[in-house]
Amino acid sequence: MLPEDVLLKAQAELLDYESTGMSIMEMSHRSAYFDEVIESAKMRLRRLMSIPSTHEVMFLHGGATTQFYALAEQFNSSGVAAYINTGQWSSKAIKAASTYGGGVDVIGTTEDENFCRAPTQDELTQQTDGYNYVHYTPNETIGGVRFPYVPDVSSPLVADFSSSILSEYIDVSKFDFIYAGAQKNIGPAGIVVVIASKAFLTRSKKAKNPIFDYCAQVKGDSRVNTPSTYSIYLANLVFEWLESQGGVAHISMLNQQKAKILYSLIDSSDYYHSPIDRDSRSWMNVPFQLHDNNLNKKFLEEADAARLYNLAGHRSVGGMRASIYNAMPLDGVIALTEFMTEFARQNG
Ligand code: PMP
Repeated sequence: MLPEDVLLKAQAELLDYESTGMSIMEMSHRSAYFDEVIESAKMRLRRLMSIPSTHEVMFLHGGATTQFYALAEQFNSSGVAAYINTGQWSSKAIKAASTYGGGVDVIGTTEDENFCRAPTQDELTQQTDGYNYVHYTPNETIGGVRFPYVPDVSSPLVADFSSSILSEYIDVSKFDFIYAGAQKNIGPAGIVVVIASKAFLTRSKKAKNPIFDYCAQVKGDSRVNTPSTYSIYLANLVFEWLESQGGVAHISMLNQQKAKILYSLIDSSDYYHSPIDRDSRSWMNVPFQLHDNNLNKKFLEEADAARLYNLAGHRSVGGMRASIYNAMPLDGVIALTEFMTEFARQNG
């Protein structure tokens, strides 16, 4: 979901941005108007996440998947990187990075438990110095697994925050490199946000393609070539909306409340079941199963009819998954729990 206020503002400005008679989509990415948009988006993100001046902010192409490769190309060209494997997205990141340099060491995983939780700090390989970086996925979007802590490691910490950025407070200074595809909590698809410490960037090897070269993009203000201008414009509106809502502190409280309501219903019923351990449950993606899988189709059809959309679990795991990102209002979650209660009553 995108916040309705954001869509309304975008609609109002669609044909005529700031009385120019032009849409922002029609403007040059080097125009003074777009300069203002990208600068504003950066400043707002810095404020929202308290990004220190030691870190650069970029709006890049290619989604999070491109970062799997660009990161490894520039920081794992020789030596080894460490990865924590908590599910499908970390597995993909590992597969991508394995083809670079000396490859990858997996320093923690719960694969033999079907990724039903994040490994604890004690379960991670204790010796973590000497790696190019340590990569983890704070929120596994498909599995619905959230790290309840930030791993304490002795090499630069890298995180794929695609599905939980801006949903809760994080201390950015603990991370050397953060990336997040936009299409969950930031805006529409089309950009990926990268936050990198200047110290880490000095270790990078030049990318073959300058579009993916972090140092070139910092120097070129995320505009080495034409960026996805409209996505950046919409991200700026989402950041503005988030600030008006009380920022990350407020949305985090609301996210916790939304997740609690949904998990409480699941835990209190024999009809629904969560496959994820309590300590590792995502606030953004709530996978759940019905006691009888034969009812899945009926559940989804009736949910659709009740205007509760996109509840099918990822095709690889089946079952259900409610994605309750920042823009999902509390009322939406309440409507879902009411529907689930009624469905269980009628089909018990
Ligand atoms: N990492 C995570 C955690 C994701 O949730 C996703 C997308 N759902 C990706 C990576 C891949 O993102 P993209 O489609 O933008 O490449």
